Amino acid sequence: MTSVVFLPKCNFRCNFCHNHELVLNDKKFELVDKQAILDFLKENKEWIDGVTITGGEPTIHNEALYLFLKQIKNLGFFIKLDTNGTHPDVINKFIDDGLVDYIAMDIKTALVDDKYQNIINVPISVEIIKKTIDLIIKSGVDHEFRTTVVPGYVTLEDIELISKYITSAKLYVLQQFNPKETLESGLKKLKPYDESVLVEMVLVASKSVNTKMRLR
Ligand code: SF4
Repeated sequence: MTSVVFLPKCNFRCNFCHNHELVLNDKKFELVDKQAILDFLKENKEWIDGVTITGGEPTIHNEALYLFLKQIKNLGFFIKLDTNGTHPDVINKFIDDGLVDYIAMDIKTALVDDKYQNIINVPISVEIIKKTIDLIIKSGVDHEFRTTVVPGYVTLEDIELISKYITSAKLYVLQQFNPKETLESGLKKLKPYDESVLVEMVLVASKSVNTKMRLR
């Protein structure tokens, strides 16, 4: 069994973000004291194998997160980290110090600045995303890359380009887009791709990398 810790705030503003309250309006959530989490983990060690750290974007909490991961590791738990890949140096340090056992990194769309920025709505060079991808693959740490297939923003061609960039990755996951909760309200009316399109995307990606589909 896994416990999940949600950390507030993010440096992206993805139009399809389903955790947008945590990104834009985190004050509405009750904060749980860090020590209370550690105590809970200790008390339930018999049932819990690992902890998933997600958000928001966890790596923006850099030093504070480093100390928290160390405390969790000292209790003997596995740690999975979710990330958008914008802080390669932070992730590198976590890997070097043995603080993460699994990394799940989003690749939002084809690694082209304009395309990426059209989804995340902040200026960024995709070179930083590529740097994180490369270091995760080279690290040997178990990992997956994942793309939410948002119609109009992620095409079959984008999936082909991404999969060709990550040929040495352990796993590539395509996630169905869910219009129920989106940061940009206009996307609530967007119809997700038919399953047949997803199957085609998986087939295309599978030519380059081990791929699976995750329906939500
Ligand atoms: S989808 Fe992830 S990276 Fe994008 S805004 Fe939401 S939390 Fe941040």
